[in-house]
Formats: sequence, structure tokens, C-alpha cells
Amino acid sequence: MNTEQDTDYQYRERVVVPRPDKELRFRNGRIPGYFSIFLGGLSLAAVLAYLFPSYLTTTDLRAAYDAEALQDVLKYGMWFSLFFGITTFVLDRRKRLGAAGIAMTLIAFALGGYNVPVGPVEPKPLSLGVDWLILAFLGSTIVFTSLEKLFPKYREQVILRDEWGLDFFYFCLNHLLISAVLLFGNFLVTHFEWVASDSLQAAIQSTPLWLQVVLLILVADFVLYWEHRVFHEVRRLWPFHAVHHSVETMDWLAGSRAHVVQIFIERGLVMLALYLLGASKEALDIYVTFAALQAIIIHSNLNVPWGPIKYLLVTPQFHHWHHSSEKPAIDTNYSAHTVLFDRLFGTYHFPKAHWPAEYGTTQKLPGSYLGQLFYPFRRR
Ligand SMILES: [Zn+2]
Ligand SMILES: [Zn+2]
Repeated sequence: MNTEQDTDYQYRERVVVPRPDKELRFRNGRIPGYFSIFLGGLSLAAVLAYLFPSYLTTTDLRAAYDAEALQDVLKYGMWFSLFFGITTFVLDRRKRLGAAGIAMTLIAFALGGYNVPVGPVEPKPLSLGVDWLILAFLGSTIVFTSLEKLFPKYREQVILRDEWGLDFFYFCLNHLLISAVLLFGNFLVTHFEWVASDSLQAAIQSTPLWLQVVLLILVADFVLYWEHRVFHEVRRLWPFHAVHHSVETMDWLAGSRAHVVQIFIERGLVMLALYLLGASKEALDIYVTFAALQAIIIHSNLNVPWGPIKYLLVTPQFHHWHHSSEKPAIDTNYSAHTVLFDRLFGTYHFPKAHWPAEYGTTQKLPGSYLGQLFYPFRRR
């Protein structure tokens, strides 16, 4: 199928039931409670990362930020965690969240707080990306929750929707595992170095930066298209990818849900392909930033007029259709970056006047992390 829309299908509007009981408000204690616990948790994680940078920070990322300047941010995080924690007691609402936030902040103070000296760094091949998690979580929450509040597709959809905790767990895990994924990618690269062509790499590096970025996007998209399609269409592989499709509410956090096996395969294959291409480091940095932002945006509860961009790049509406459990959308829209390969290989489904009414898999998956981790290994 290669269609804008299925003329025989009756498209429906999605119904989002308002959940006033789940809304984030200052008065119901949810805003101070969650602010306190998140800031307390991040502060404690940050202090630990300052104490044990060899084990808890990412070598490549460390070069990009100033650890001492970030101590100022930590200072505000700690004081605000205490302030919001105390507020829950004043309001007499969500005191457990406030108490947990205060407790974590006090432990962070006891370990040295925002004056903790930056520990000695001996780069290790494998570490937990605690720094990457903290920075990505702060940045993404601020930017994407604001965008979703300003330009929502479904205004009634709450931030603390069903299964947000599960997706937050996936978000944390994916960021903590960054150095393991990079290590796996490098392992693949060292085994396929013989494929690389010096003359091809030199030719690519001599082209303008914008062209290198376009090439990287197209090559990665081709690899991701086929990797994604194989995960959908090979029966034994589908249960791994079904985890990503088990989300029934789409927002910026939803895209984090993915089986760890698929994450390693997907990232490893892309790293290998991009390495063989041999573009410059600048072009790679631009590509990685673009890919990371696009991956979050396309899952978001976001409705902005993309204009002609939607005919070129994968946008939220296009990828939301990929997550739909409605018949005409099944096994369509595999592309990650541009719509080109879906157009070329006949898997394009984009009824521009409609959004999906239903998301998720036709067969329900377990709702816990461990249940989903072992789901592909279950006997069927
Ligand atoms: Zn898929
Ligand atoms: Zn997705």
C-alpha cells in the first residue's frame, strides 16, 4: 500500500477523557510534590556523579560541559527541592512525595552537596551515563512539556497519563546505558573496518558540511527503515519491537519505550553505517542532535503546522500513524527521518486530515518493565 489515505476506511476522532484527578496543580500538591522528588533525585544523582565520575559520567559528554559551572545549577536544584518539599507539608497534600524529595536532598547535602569537589577521572570503557540522564531529563522536560502545553494535539491529555512511570523508567535506563551502547557500536565497527573505503571517506569529507549531513540522514534512514521493517515483518522479531508499540498514549516520553535488544541492534547498525560513510565529526554531531530531537518530537502530543516540511520529514502526525492499531496503518510509515523510503518501498500511509483514534498493539503486552523484557522470550 502506498496511499495518502484509505478511501474505504472510516476514520474516527480520538476520544481523550479528561482526568481532573491526575492534573498537575499547585493546590493539589502535585506540582510541589513532583518537583521536590524529581529535583531531590536529580540532585542526589548529580552529587554521586561528582564523587565518582569515572563510573557515573560519560567520557564524550564530559568534554562538552563545565562540571564546575553546573554546580550552580545543582545548588538551585537542591534548595528548590527542599522548598517544594516543605510546601507539600504546608498544603497538607502529597506529603510523601515531599518527604522523599527532602530526604534525597538531605542525603545529597550529607555527601558534600553543591560544594562537593569534582572527583578524579580515570576514563573507563564502561560507565553509567548519570550525567547524560540528568542533563537530558532537565532539558527534555523543560522544552517538550512546554511545547506540548503550548501546541497540544490533545489538550485534555494529562502529563501524568497512564504508564508514564514505566516510560520514565525506560527513559532513565536508555540514558544510563549510553556508554554500553557506544561500546557495542565500536565493537561492530572494529569488526567491519575492512569494508571501509579510504577514497570514499576522503571524497565525502571533501563535500560541503550540509551535504554530508544530508547524506548521513539518508544513509541512517535507509538502515533504520529496513531494520524497522524487519522487526515488524519477521514474526520472531516482532515481539521485541512490540514493546515500543505497546504505548497507548503518545507524548514526548512515549518514544523512550523500546526493548533493550532492539536498542543495541538499532544503534549499533546506524553507528556502523555512519562510520563506514566516514563523514566529518561536525557533520556527525549535527546528525546526532537532529536525530535525537526528531525521535522525541515525532512521538509528542504536538500539533504545529509543519507546512511543506511534512512532505519531506517524519513529523508527529506521520509517526503517530505508525503507532496506530487501526487497520490501514498497520505495518506502514517505517521511516525515522524522511518520508522518502516509505514512498519508495510502498509503505506510506498519511491521511493528512486525520490522526489515529487508537494507539497500541492488537495483542496486549505486560505492563511492567520485567514483563516486557521477557515478553519476546515467552513460548507462544
Ligand atoms: Zn514500529
Ligand atoms: Zn515510535
